[in-house]
Amino acid sequence: MRCLEETVDDVDATFQELYVYPERARAAEESGDDEEDVHELEGDLIDIEPALRDAVVTALPFQPLCQPDCPGLCSECGARLADDPGHHHDVVDPRWSALKSMLGTDVVPDETKES
Ligand SMILES: [Zn+2]
Ligand SMILES: [Zn+2]
Repeated sequence: MRCLEETVDDVDATFQELYVYPERARAAEESGDDEEDVHELEGDLIDIEPALRDAVVTALPFQPLCQPDCPGLCSECGARLADDPGHHHDVVDPRWSALKSMLGTDVVPDETKES
């Protein structure tokens, strides 16, 4: 979510679905039994992918992080900050950049100081 690293996590999801043979499903249809959420077998196989997907997607974290305190990426250069904790740039606030060019050298503005 923050640093674009691949994340791997375990998800526990529970679901319950009813699967029946196609003949049974048709018979139930004809007899007017309104069985909702009944899935047909495909031959002797059950395709649980749709049910699995529905169950797992809702269990997935909304904002997956590679680690709970992922610092994300550097807004200046895009470096992954978790790989480089001391990472920083000596960058003047862009709102002050015009002022800096007037003053010339490496003047770092200090808003707390009264001039
Ligand atoms: Zn991360
Ligand atoms: Zn950077």
